[in-house]
Amino acid sequence: MSNVQVAVVTGSNKGIGFAIVRALCKQFPGDVYLTARDPSRGREAVAKLQEEGLHVLFHQLDIDDLQSIRALRDFLKEKYGGLNVLVNNAGIAFKVHDTTPFAVQAEVTLKTNFFGTRNVCTELLPLVKPYGRVVNVSSMVSSSALGGCSRELQEKFRSDTITEDELVELMTKFVEDTKKSVHEKEGWPNTAYGVSKIGVTVLSRIQARMLNEKRKGDHILLNACCPGWVRTDMAGPKATKSPDEGAETPVYLALLPSDADGPHGQFLSNKTVRTW
Ligand code: NAP
Repeated sequence: MSNVQVAVVTGSNKGIGFAIVRALCKQFPGDVYLTARDPSRGREAVAKLQEEGLHVLFHQLDIDDLQSIRALRDFLKEKYGGLNVLVNNAGIAFKVHDTTPFAVQAEVTLKTNFFGTRNVCTELLPLVKPYGRVVNVSSMVSSSALGGCSRELQEKFRSDTITEDELVELMTKFVEDTKKSVHEKEGWPNTAYGVSKIGVTVLSRIQARMLNEKRKGDHILLNACCPGWVRTDMAGPKATKSPDEGAETPVYLALLPSDADGPHGQFLSNKTVRTW
């Protein structure tokens, strides 16, 4: 088993994830894995970074596929005995003018952005080594969507005692409510992406609390962040930041020094803790 440090970035064949890998290759003192659901897109991305003279490794990962997540988990366990940095970046968003029925958009978006990210965490967080860093890429849209929730839902999502099971129940209820066309009546905002990212931010707060309770001495720091509005296939060419600029906050959190005791369990943008 290798005692080299290892970092993994989900959904990194393009966009912000690709830029995060590029930055980690330059700054992280260990092996960096670019992962992609499609191996040929992944290998093309790896070749681009190799052309830039960077040393990067590849592993397949589809966060919608539990078998794929577990294959990566087993690989990391066997080759490295765990992992040091995990960046949950993979995500999807329907375009604003997409005519897919809202209930379908809700189910598909939540499946990847919330449930897929959660499955990666469930399988990989137990492998994170002491002084490990975990970054969940959420969005400022999670804050605005929170503001669009009923007072009762806002209280639940801001609660310091909400459990992961309760959060899963709420995310499941949102999808069910959209199918019955009652989501607005039930206090949800009209954004599937926004609700999925509320899920990612709240999940991060819960996971950080669990680390405090169960692994306090391990000094692991886990946070959610917004990369900003970034020119990628998701956000389009009018966005204000380049992918490398969008990678800055996630990379800052992934590389928090070993003597840092925070931020932890926070939501950040532009490297600054935001009120949730
Ligand atoms: P992007 O260019 O569309 O890239 C998304 C990446 O996620 C792609 O590599 C995609 O792979 C991958 N992905 C999607 N579903 C996946 C799955 N099931 N398993 C594994 N990988 C999967 O988007 P981006 O703008 O870089 O977004 C990256 C993250 O930042 C997302 O979580 C997004 O919500 C968040 N974000 C973006 C912005 C922005 O302005 N761009 C703002 C706030 C937050 P394929 O190539 O195979 O589709």
